[in-house]
Amino acid sequence: EPINVNDWSIVTFIPSKAIAGEVNKALFTTFLVAIAVVLIILSICIYVVVLNNKKQKQLFEYAYIDMITKKWNIYYFRKKGQEIIEDKNRIEVNTKQYILILDINKFKMINKSFGYKVGDIILKGISEEIEKVLGKESLICRFSNDYFTALFNYKADIKELLNELVKNAENLRVEGNVYNLSVNIGVYQITTQDKNISEAIDKAIIAHSASKGDVFNKFSIYNEKMEKEIEKESKIEREMNKGLKNKEFKVYYQPKINAKNESLYGAEALVRWEHNGKMILPSEFVPLFEKNKFILKLDLYVFEQVCRDLKYWKEKYNEEPIISVNVSREHFLDENFLEKYMLICSKYAIDTNKIELEITESATIEDGIDIIEIMHRIKKLGFLISIDDFGTGYSSLATLQDMPADILKIDKSFVDRIGKSEKNIIDYILNIAKELKFISVAEGVETKEQKEYLAEKGCDVIQGYYYAKPMTKTEFEKMISKDILEDGEKK
Ligand code: C2E
Ligand code: CA
Ligand code: CA
Repeated sequence: EPINVNDWSIVTFIPSKAIAGEVNKALFTTFLVAIAVVLIILSICIYVVVLNNKKQKQLFEYAYIDMITKKWNIYYFRKKGQEIIEDKNRIEVNTKQYILILDINKFKMINKSFGYKVGDIILKGISEEIEKVLGKESLICRFSNDYFTALFNYKADIKELLNELVKNAENLRVEGNVYNLSVNIGVYQITTQDKNISEAIDKAIIAHSASKGDVFNKFSIYNEKMEKEIEKESKIEREMNKGLKNKEFKVYYQPKINAKNESLYGAEALVRWEHNGKMILPSEFVPLFEKNKFILKLDLYVFEQVCRDLKYWKEKYNEEPIISVNVSREHFLDENFLEKYMLICSKYAIDTNKIELEITESATIEDGIDIIEIMHRIKKLGFLISIDDFGTGYSSLATLQDMPADILKIDKSFVDRIGKSEKNIIDYILNIAKELKFISVAEGVETKEQKEYLAEKGCDVIQGYYYAKPMTKTEFEKMISKDILEDGEKK
């Protein structure tokens, strides 16, 4: 360093060893501190990332996973399904791709009778059964209450696969317990033209609704005819309430004749829909109305028309024929349905014992409905009860014996067999009716031969085209007045 005296400078010498020791120490400390800081920052970062990932995963689960079955929900199904459909190389040759919809029938009943815990076990069990049958690679989702959908590839016969799925799902085994369920399935085969997952799901839903509630056809595979059918149905659904308001539904009466003396026994009330100048028969709309519950309104409407007519005939002829009215099994799910019938009876001051309620035999196998108890309630109110379409359902002779019914209506299919084989099953049915003290009514009698055979075998009442087709109330009224006249002449 110059010291400004002459040209002198001071020079200092320090041994490098002495400095290096100090510097190294300082460097080392700094290094340690730096590492510590880096480590702390790193762990904070890792912590944040892990936390974030966990949150993300949780969010993903909330958004995409069904909590009960731990399978996908509909949002994920749509998202992933769309990706799969758009993927050109998605399937190998010889493999087909399908969307399936499966639902458990009367699942509400299961929840109600066994509790939600069992309900949840069943839902989880079904989702696992679907996975087991369709394979681990299938995309499975519970998309609402008891509805499942799946996207899967399959090489062999789809019908066999569906049969297996139905069999396993309807005898569901979970942890040593067996649950007897009823399911229906709809399937749509995805084609290369399909570009939109939602449209493909819709088609599977259409196929499903074609088999929904059907005890015999457990699954159906989509075809275009189904779509037209659905269109027709939704058109009817749009028109039905208007039809009821505009009094387009008309009650026809089909006479029933005593087999012994051919006098008038009574009639069955059958509904017709006079719509846009056409007459629509119940086979076109009753099954749909049972599905959408409109039958509950329609049956009461028919019942009220019958009561009104009965009141009118009573006042005019001092005579009330026995009229039978069809009561759909859908009513039995409503505990108070009989009060509604009674209210109408009292409105028109009708004696309940002039009215016969026709209940189909198949109603007796509906799950969760104690038909015998319902029949006792009906009986207590004084109505006559007939078991409709007898022989087409599954009631055992033991159940039949316990039924407090009055009349057995033998289904047309048995009448049709008269004269076609040596042994007529109708003989047995008539014997059972006699044995159990039911009045027997044969339905759909069309020929003299059938009528004579039935009369000879002791059938009490005949209903069918042989005597008369269902007719308007004015036409039927003529039969009542004529009957009274003939009665008078006999007297
Ligand atoms: P169902 O109760 O078994 O009624 C008898 C059906 O057989 C009627 O058909 C009747 O017209 C028809 N029939 C009677 N005799 C003969 C015959 O000799 N030959 C042939 N081929 N058919 C005959 P319809 O009126 O078309 O009714 C069909 C079904 O619709 C009824 O079957 C019943 O289950 C239902 N239905 C009709 N009206 C009502 C209603 O007001 N409420 C409910 N819930 N169901 C109804
Ligand atoms: Ca009937
Ligand atoms: Ca019948």
